[in-house]
Order: sequence, then structure tokens, then C-alpha cells
Amino acid sequence: MNGSTAVIPVPLKMTTAFIVKEEGTILVDSGYPGSESAILGKLNELNIAPEDVRLIVLTHCHPDHAGSASILREKTGAKVLIHRLDADKLRNGTQGELHSVRFVGRILKLFFDREKTSKYPPIEPDIIIDDSFDLGEYGIRGQVISTPGHTLGSVSVILDNGDAIVGDLLIPSFLSNKPNFPFWADDLNELKKSIQKLVNYAPKRVYIAHFGGPYSLADLKEKFHV
Ligand SMILES: [Zn+2]
Ligand SMILES: [Zn+2]
Repeated sequence: MNGSTAVIPVPLKMTTAFIVKEEGTILVDSGYPGSESAILGKLNELNIAPEDVRLIVLTHCHPDHAGSASILREKTGAKVLIHRLDADKLRNGTQGELHSVRFVGRILKLFFDREKTSKYPPIEPDIIIDDSFDLGEYGIRGQVISTPGHTLGSVSVILDNGDAIVGDLLIPSFLSNKPNFPFWADDLNELKKSIQKLVNYAPKRVYIAHFGGPYSLADLKEKFHV
């Protein structure tokens, strides 16, 4: 493959999806239900036909990431990929229980646990992964790796060019904007290990879904002492 890999953030309501384009095009996350027009609009702006998107990687099963996967699969014909441990929630269109890590998580949980914000159109995934998945067959130099913690089936996209897209593995601190743990984690210990795993790949730019980033490797090392 020639040329470089481009990561194009698509700002959505309260979250971000990412178009990754090289020889092929993939989408990472899909936003809340109702995000399809913003994503299709961005593709159009980039002169990418919907059917050129052949894969939708879901970093995890939460509605702000998986919410528009069903409709976007319909509109693009792309395959939908998720980790085995988040697949059942995707099939049910549910987010599962939120386990607060940070104080703000306890407060926000009251809002995000509500039926209205936690449900989304269910979808049967096309590709279910365990440890890793090579993106080569989709025309992208890079891979999807498991980075559990926020949910047990959370994954990150690690590109050969040094970019990483990590979903909700990290969320900024409110005041400093430095990377911090997410508001919720199913397993904080696994989450810490996943941050270490990410750092071991020595990414140059770490893209996150909410309110900030991209972070540098130095940002991560400074904050987490890894
Ligand atoms: Zn999440
Ligand atoms: Zn999120």
C-alpha cells in the first residue's frame, strides 16, 4: 500500500466518530442513534461514497459509540466489528451497567443509566474479535487490539503510522485537559493494564471520543507513570 493513512475526526453530539482512510476506508464508532446524516455528510465532503466504507469498528457497546451502527451498515454495506465480550450487549442494544470510577461518573450515571439514553437499535455483528484483528484486508495498515477495562470488550485501533483511536479508554480531566480514567469502568485493573498496553505500542497521537485529545505518548507517560 502506498500513501499515508488519514484519521478524520467526525464531531457528533457529545462524542466523536473517526473515518480512517488509506487505500481503503473504515469507520471507527458510529455515535448516538441519529448520527448517520452527520457521518454520511462528512464522507460526502471527503468524496468518499458510502459503499466505499467496508468496515465499522465499534470500540465498545455503549450507545454513543454503537448507536448508529445498524443504520450505517444499511446505508454503506460495511461489516460491523466488535469484541466478543461486548457482542451480546450490541445484540440487545443495551449498554450494560455503568461502574463509576470517578466522582463525576457517579453523578452522570444518574442521567446516562436512563432507559432513554442507554438503549439503541440492536445489531448482530458481522465480525467478532478476541485479541486482535488485522486491518490489511480493508486497505488500512494497522490493527484492532483488545483494550478492556471501560467495558470488558473495549478495543482500540492502532495504526502503523503512529495514530491510535482508543474510544473511552481515556477521558480528559475537566480542568487540566490531561488524559484521565473514564467516568466508568467495568474493571479498573484491566483498564490500567490496557493503558500500559497502549503505551507499549508507542503511539504518536492518541485520539479519544470525548471532549479532548489527541494526546501524545508523553501526555500518557506523564499522567500514568507508565
Ligand atoms: Zn463508553
Ligand atoms: Zn463514550
